[in-house]
Amino acid sequence: MQIIMMGAPGAGKGTQAAKIATKYEIPQISTGDMFRSAVAEGTELGKQAKEYMSAGKLVPDEVTIGIVRERLAKSDCEKGFILDGFPRTVEQADALGKILSDLGKEISAVINIDVPLSDLIERGVGRRICKSCGATYHIKFNAPVKENVCDACGGELYQRADDTAETMTKRLSVYEASTRPLIDYYKNAGVYVEIDGRQSISAVTEALNKVLLSVEG
Ligand code: ADP
Ligand code: ADP
Ligand code: ZN
Repeated sequence: MQIIMMGAPGAGKGTQAAKIATKYEIPQISTGDMFRSAVAEGTELGKQAKEYMSAGKLVPDEVTIGIVRERLAKSDCEKGFILDGFPRTVEQADALGKILSDLGKEISAVINIDVPLSDLIERGVGRRICKSCGATYHIKFNAPVKENVCDACGGELYQRADDTAETMTKRLSVYEASTRPLIDYYKNAGVYVEIDGRQSISAVTEALNKVLLSVEG
């Protein structure tokens, strides 16, 4: 099962992709997470990505496509994967098509979590992430039992440097210009499914599970 999870910044891609990855025992491949670890580790990739991320811009296609190509070639992707936050440009989508055909694989479904722009800033600014296990929370919509402490592992929660109202606004305009065109791209390819992302987290998960049942076929 090769799934692409699409949606604007803050739509809920990561939250839902993590659940699918656990349920189907396939890796969740998040380019944002890969870049954040590289930045934290101070690697060459991290140095390249950092300035773009803090400005709310996309990391150049060449760099991003390179890390996804390497990742998808790993053996844990053989039985499937869920891409979270890639592709984000038509160039990335074209490159993904080529990578998959080289691997003899096809896209099973492109799932777009649709959330109105007006809700997304609040989702982004209220997002909190566990330093230890990476679990995602929201101060209002998915609050941990104890403030700033991860329910799953007891780790400390933090706010991403790019989850400010200002950078979210920039990221949303980048989404409109560069990523939204992928909706028609994948509609034309016949693999596009849309889910109403205004629902609660569990209602979105339920809708997703229905879609995936039909994909599994
Ligand atoms: P969000 O949760 O807002 O969707 P991500 O964690 O997926 O954010 O991405 C954070 C940042 O990492 C992006 O703003 C961008 O700078 C970079 N990034 C992530 N994925 C890509 C991609 N596919 N292409 C280019 N840049 C990316
Ligand atoms: P993305 O990966 O698309 O940027 P996340 O999964 O990180 O989005 O979710 C962004 C924020 O919104 C997080 O704080 C998350 O807890 C919250 N969130 C996710 N899905 C929903 C939902 N259906 N309703 C309300 N808040 C949500
Ligand atoms: Zn945790």
